Amino acid sequence: MEPNYPAVLKQIASEIAPLVGAGAPAAYIPALASVDPAQFGMALADVDGGLYGVGDWRTPFSAQSITKVFALALALAEGGGSLWERVGREPSGNPFNSLVQLEYENGIPRNPFINAGALVVTDRLQTLTGDASSEVLEFLRQESQNPDLRFDADVAASEHEHGDRNAAVAHFMAAYGNIDNPVPSLLEHYFWQCSIETSCADLALAARLLARHGLRADGSRLLSRSEAKQINAVMLTCGTYDAAGEFAYRVGLPGKSGVGGGIVAVVPGRCALAVWSPGLDARGNSVAGVAALDRFTTLTGLSVF
Ligand code: GLN
Repeated sequence: MEPNYPAVLKQIASEIAPLVGAGAPAAYIPALASVDPAQFGMALADVDGGLYGVGDWRTPFSAQSITKVFALALALAEGGGSLWERVGREPSGNPFNSLVQLEYENGIPRNPFINAGALVVTDRLQTLTGDASSEVLEFLRQESQNPDLRFDADVAASEHEHGDRNAAVAHFMAAYGNIDNPVPSLLEHYFWQCSIETSCADLALAARLLARHGLRADGSRLLSRSEAKQINAVMLTCGTYDAAGEFAYRVGLPGKSGVGGGIVAVVPGRCALAVWSPGLDARGNSVAGVAALDRFTTLTGLSVF
């Protein structure tokens, strides 16, 4: 039986209210550090077209690494599985912006959801389309049916200004021959992609792609059923970085977080969820967001396990 989603979301919002504001917004990107942490929103988009939300679910925020899911979907759809020769599918067990494994693994990042892997994916998408960041923006606009989605130029500039780590990662992989485009333009596309502003409603609608086994909002097929399953699997094992084990334990769904405080999660065949609260834990995942998803799967029993 279908849970009463509006009632469930309302209950979650009241239960996790004491956690809203816990943790801290990302400090290493100054444009994100100034966001009011006392915000919380959650949206659910079901496969039949229903859309439900609670709290600040229509408020735009910086999607950040959540865009890595959509860039991966587009790169696989456009270019096929040869991408997997350049990026792995194993959890890294390290922070999302870590460099340490890259040297002894010859410039091949562990997975597409840490920064190194996402840079390879964006590089591939850039080669395939000529404008990687606009492809991701256009995809999100179409899936969310929100033509107002835009890049946040302040966030992109802030990332650029404080982007030494991402630049180091990209140059390092280029030295191993694993980057095809000029590093400065690749970094720009990556920063612009991360800066896209979306609400929980927009992200839940876009992530429905993975709940509908690869079907887009207009009913056309972007990914094969098998590719959608593969992306969900990599989200489960790698989507929350060095906390992916804990996330699977608590939430039990494929999920992808971003340092803007958003997380998307997928119940294959049923619905997609997006949650947002800017306060992050030490691993870069939203404190209230993880708690809300934990409550969702506990209350509804909707989990992949
Ligand atoms: N733009 C951020 C970065 O490159 C994305 C990180 C994240 O959301 N985890 O560091």
